[in-house]
Amino acid sequence: MAATDLSALYSRAEAIYRDYSLGTVREWKARTGGLAIGYMPIYIPTELLHAQGVLPVGLLGARDDLEIIKGDAYYQSYICHIPRSTIELGLNGKLDPLDGVIFPAICDVIRNLSGMWQTLFPNALVRYLDVPQNFDPAIGGRFYRQELESLSADLAARGARPYDAEALRASIGVHNHLRRLVRDLYTLRQAAPWKVPTSELYVMLRATVVIPVEDAIVLLQQYRAGVEAADDRVPLDQARVLLTGSFCEQPPLGLIRTLERAGCYIVDDDFVQIHRWIKSDIPTAGDPLDNLVQAFLSDSIASPTRYIDRGVKGAELIERVRTSGAEGVLFCAPSFCDPALLDQPMAVRAVEQTQVPWTAFKYSENTGQFQVIREQAGTFADSIRLWSQA
Ligand code: SF4
Repeated sequence: MAATDLSALYSRAEAIYRDYSLGTVREWKARTGGLAIGYMPIYIPTELLHAQGVLPVGLLGARDDLEIIKGDAYYQSYICHIPRSTIELGLNGKLDPLDGVIFPAICDVIRNLSGMWQTLFPNALVRYLDVPQNFDPAIGGRFYRQELESLSADLAARGARPYDAEALRASIGVHNHLRRLVRDLYTLRQAAPWKVPTSELYVMLRATVVIPVEDAIVLLQQYRAGVEAADDRVPLDQARVLLTGSFCEQPPLGLIRTLERAGCYIVDDDFVQIHRWIKSDIPTAGDPLDNLVQAFLSDSIASPTRYIDRGVKGAELIERVRTSGAEGVLFCAPSFCDPALLDQPMAVRAVEQTQVPWTAFKYSENTGQFQVIREQAGTFADSIRLWSQA
């Protein structure tokens, strides 16, 4: 694929990412007549929705170009930004193509937002999806299966196709394909971060959450072919960093670009985790609903929003530092994000035990000024390069 095609592909993905009105969803609904159901970060079983003919639509907040007027009226000042922008988009009619929204158990803010959604949009399907914090299949697994069965019944009652095991097997296979593509892009970026700039990959991933999974697969295949063929991308003297903490409210694109311009190659991150929440392929043989449950119980990432049972806080982060070859860690969390910021001291302690340098800063999805972060990240990257040469 020629470099101009890569540029055209990026422009297409960026237009989808910037479209608050969910034009791709409106177009899909007009064409298929199906249900479109939004979901808040971080994880929902998109396979189940897809198997019932429903389009899952990721709602990952807004940017600095959305003026928040009504959204601020619903929240106190000392919480994160994503619930305000979600309310604003809902009240402005931007989310009208959605027939409902699933609110997965992330934190109290999202729980509270699900209640507000019920009040504000009484005709919409509103589901709070409780996920297990007990990982015994006989307890947490049984509970989660009941949650999925109940979600499936709610979708069918709204007009979705009824649950069908064969359809779910096929959906799991399609989603495994998408997950593999994302994993492969992350691996390629680790090997050659100059070929896969994070600011570009991020926009591609943001586009994938508002289009059908089949289209997302094609988009990422084309992107992969484009970056592999691009011969004008050469390595720069940048520091390799792992960025963590940005799993729910997403940073503005300008912040990611700022980090890159400040001398950082982001070689691993927490952005758009829906495609990486389950770490490997989900089996398609056997009972597919049980397979979804088992994957959640035993193959999920170590998110601050999830109890890790017998695991050690920070252990998976250290493993990711090692695998990605990161020379430093950026703790980059949304302001007032309890799950990220309560976990951070334990994660910092784990990183310090490995002698890997780290720094921390906070953002909001509508942050528009990056000078301070640029200076901080630039100094961090410079110090990594200087010490690695000493
Ligand atoms: S950014 Fe953090 S506090 Fe805010 S809704 Fe997401 S997980 Fe909860």
